[in-house]
Amino acid sequence: MHDSAPPAAGPDHEVVVVGGGFSGIGAAIALKRVGIDDIAVLEAGDGVGGAWHWNTYPGVAVDIPSFSYQFSYAQQADWSRVYAPGGELKAYAEHCVDRYDLRPHVRLNTRVTGARFDDEQHHWTLDTADGDTITARHVIGATGVLTQPKPPAIPGLEDFAGRTVHTARWDHDLDLRGKRVAVIGTGASAVQLIPSIAPDVEHLTVFQRTPIWCLPKPDAPLAAPLRTVLRRVPGARWALRAASQAYVELTFPIAAHFAGIVPLAAGSERLALSHLRRQVRDPAVREKLTPRYSLGCKRPSFSNEYLPAFNRANVALETSAIERITPEGVQTSDGTVHAVDVLVLATGFKVFEAGNMPPFAVTGSGGADLDAFWTENRFQAYEGVSVPGFPNFFTILGPYGYNGASYFTLIENQMRHIVRCLQHARTRDATRVEVTPEANARYFAQMLGRRHRQVFFRGSCSTANSYYFDVNGDVPFRASPTLEAAWRSARYDLDDYRFDRAAVPATAAV
Ligand code: NAP
Repeated sequence: MHDSAPPAAGPDHEVVVVGGGFSGIGAAIALKRVGIDDIAVLEAGDGVGGAWHWNTYPGVAVDIPSFSYQFSYAQQADWSRVYAPGGELKAYAEHCVDRYDLRPHVRLNTRVTGARFDDEQHHWTLDTADGDTITARHVIGATGVLTQPKPPAIPGLEDFAGRTVHTARWDHDLDLRGKRVAVIGTGASAVQLIPSIAPDVEHLTVFQRTPIWCLPKPDAPLAAPLRTVLRRVPGARWALRAASQAYVELTFPIAAHFAGIVPLAAGSERLALSHLRRQVRDPAVREKLTPRYSLGCKRPSFSNEYLPAFNRANVALETSAIERITPEGVQTSDGTVHAVDVLVLATGFKVFEAGNMPPFAVTGSGGADLDAFWTENRFQAYEGVSVPGFPNFFTILGPYGYNGASYFTLIENQMRHIVRCLQHARTRDATRVEVTPEANARYFAQMLGRRHRQVFFRGSCSTANSYYFDVNGDVPFRASPTLEAAWRSARYDLDDYRFDRAAVPATAAV
């Protein structure tokens, strides 16, 4: 038991959730379901939905089947396609907020700039960009990782005389019709964007540094009769979801984490190469589009439209390195200046980088800094949820939390873990909950001990330029199937946490 002074007054909220994307929405739903109602969801943007609020570029859509890309307890019957367009995900976020009565808890336009733990009061104080402070017994970081757009480190970017836009901050006043456009990057966002804008622009130059593995996308509109079946027939949604979950599990977590046992990558590579042969006419272009690293080293894409875009007369694939941006356009290493009117940065996000997980300073017990902890000790978090020295602080998408399946499965599993912990704290009248260093070390060692069978460490990834790898060469994904993650979230040993109570119980203790 800590010998700290009794809390002067309860904090503003029992739980503050930072982020109003699907992680934050799922966190709030899970908390309310067990009667933890004194919660606030702080969202930097002017709407909920996270990635689906911010990413509105042409062609944006989910690349995991919608039957899996939704909460298990709020399955929709009216997705327009197997892979729903982004707008439907944004609408689904709004729907969940209303259906679970979260609106009163959500504070939009509230960017958290820092959080510090009070060792005396056993609560967190969060600072916001508009100068407010909010206190909370517990904080759940639900800020995701694909949130901070990353402009490319190319000299001269600011000198460009035309319009520059990042895919994650699309400008809907931008009319690309008849324009000469450059797209820098060929990741998942570019794969969706390129075929969507190619028919409209006068000319499109795609600057590719590393080709992406592109697999066929088993996409189709969901016909009205099927939607009726999903709406009316008991169990139909669950049956479809089970099939979808099995497909996702095989193509992502099993393929990646069990590469040494279940060699799916070779078959997927053959499939992707035949997709490329079928879809791209020019052998020289095909050659440039052929990846030279193992499938799975970085996120593959799924598209039936991306590769054929390179057959168009108005689309060029440029693989010479970009040297600089000039006022006129993009200058490549061969000296050519590709003159364009619009520069589209499809260059992704800050991911496993200091200052992104979460994107604000977190100061834990005794002044410990979360970024510094990770810089000194490598990325690690017990079950991807909690870090020793940072009591009452939980994350949805912490290191070694996500296994590559649907984010919704992740959110539900992580919240099962967090809710169990908070409920136990409640029964113990505890005001301070902290994972033990031993439990954290054990989990970290276990994750590292599974590396030998992961594609990241077995395959040839050195030329993949994959954001999966952090500065230490670690890949902080949970090396496990989804069922194991679910089981562990329900069964982990509660003694892996230390539960303490201030000398006099706080009125607002959870
Ligand atoms: P990304 O996968 O990180 O791709 C960024 C692209 O920009 C890469 O091709 C990269 O090349 C290129 N690039 C970056 N800096 C460059 C430079 N200085 N010069 C030339 N090229 C440069 O980003 P993203 O496409 O936005 O996707 C990010 C993640 O978002 C995806 O992996 C996926 O998880 C998620 N996403 C999901 C969906 C969905 O459907 N659910 C859709 C879009 C995105 P290198 O490869 O050489 O680094």
